[in-house]
Amino acid sequence: MAKWIAFPYLSVIVMSHITKLSSGHQLQSAHEVVNHELVIAGEPLSKRVQEAGGTPCYMYDMTRAQQQITAVREAFPKQFSVFYAVKANPNSQVLAALQPWVDGLDVASYGEVETAMNVGYKPQDMGFAGPAKSQGELNASLENGVFLSLESITEAKRICTWAEQHQKPIEVGIRINPSFELRASGMHMGGGAQVFGIDEETLFKVVETINQSAWVSVTGLHIYAGSQCLQMPALVEQFRETFLCFSRVCEQFELPIKRLNFGGGLGVPYFAGNVPIDLALLGHALHELCAEFKDFIQHKELIVELGRFLMADAGLYVSQVSDVKVSRKHTFVMTNGGMHHHLANSGNLGQLLKKNYPVVLGQKVDCPVEQKVTIAGPLCTPLDVLAKNIELPQVDIDDFVVIMLSGAYGLSSSPQQFLSHPSAKELVIPVI
Ligand SMILES: *Cc1c(COP(=O)(O)O)cnc(C)c1O
Repeated sequence: MAKWIAFPYLSVIVMSHITKLSSGHQLQSAHEVVNHELVIAGEPLSKRVQEAGGTPCYMYDMTRAQQQITAVREAFPKQFSVFYAVKANPNSQVLAALQPWVDGLDVASYGEVETAMNVGYKPQDMGFAGPAKSQGELNASLENGVFLSLESITEAKRICTWAEQHQKPIEVGIRINPSFELRASGMHMGGGAQVFGIDEETLFKVVETINQSAWVSVTGLHIYAGSQCLQMPALVEQFRETFLCFSRVCEQFELPIKRLNFGGGLGVPYFAGNVPIDLALLGHALHELCAEFKDFIQHKELIVELGRFLMADAGLYVSQVSDVKVSRKHTFVMTNGGMHHHLANSGNLGQLLKKNYPVVLGQKVDCPVEQKVTIAGPLCTPLDVLAKNIELPQVDIDDFVVIMLSGAYGLSSSPQQFLSHPSAKELVIPVI
């Protein structure tokens, strides 16, 4: 915790916790600050930057990820397994750290299967969903026992052919494109015309195809309707609609269903004014739904698969100020990191308007605000903006610029090779 420095005159260490920024951002959980400097897992930011090998860097505090998973488990009914969606952060040390805490993985490519197997996950504990799985990916998954979520009639046919050729019983899931949408989500992946899943009204074609095979059976149903939803009523409605859709489908086709995958969609408060999800409330609603659908879900595994909600809060992206310049009265703070490491923060990964993530100067976290600036990265494009019109304390060259909530959809979802700048370093801080 706070350390007492042995200066005779300076015996007071200013330690505090921030849960809210002056920009109007409400943080998911408190961050410790000592003498204006952010503390990351018990150590000052500057020390963590040294450990990372300098800036620009990402740091992931796995204690915070573990706390999120624990919170989800405590809130959700016990019947839910908690899966981690690898594409949110596929760093292999992150995956290894998460392994004792999660029940399985949602993977979106065979590359993710291999990364996860390399750190010790079993293929049987992975569910593979993806709108255009190649024949090679299907073959490798079937050979290794990865559970596939079918997303087209072609995939169904290919799996039946493989099972027939290998005379091997195969269980699969069907990813349904439901007739409902996840309202108020940042990104829709279900409802309407979609590349994801199989439209509910054409499911019979896939079921017919599979029923013709002596080797393949449908034992799972899967719906993932959208991402980054912060609205409680919309989230609860999504779970309810999913329960209804699953029970409709089971009734219609009499499938030997063992597992029901509800996707996720839980959002994090990236922007000013966003209110974090109240897990206790959501958990309460889920307990009620489980009671309502008690007979239907008996002896079935329920799965929730989360990426962003488990990892976003654990991660920080840290760059350093390389220049401060004024153009026609507007101050631009230039940094050595940018959109090539953090596309989502720049607003260019499925966001309509540039809004700021929570941003602080890492060693002036709670210093008084003095100016309004735009923080921009080194790329030769006006899209490379880390924060626009943000109020900050006095900014000096080499100051740390920290973007919070950066543990999910960060480095691996960014165009790192654009402009040939060095890659960001990644520091994974294990639970002590
Ligand atoms: C990406 C993905 C997830 C994770 O979504 P988050 O919004 O990060 O929780 C879950 N399921 C599927 C099928 C996905 O493609």
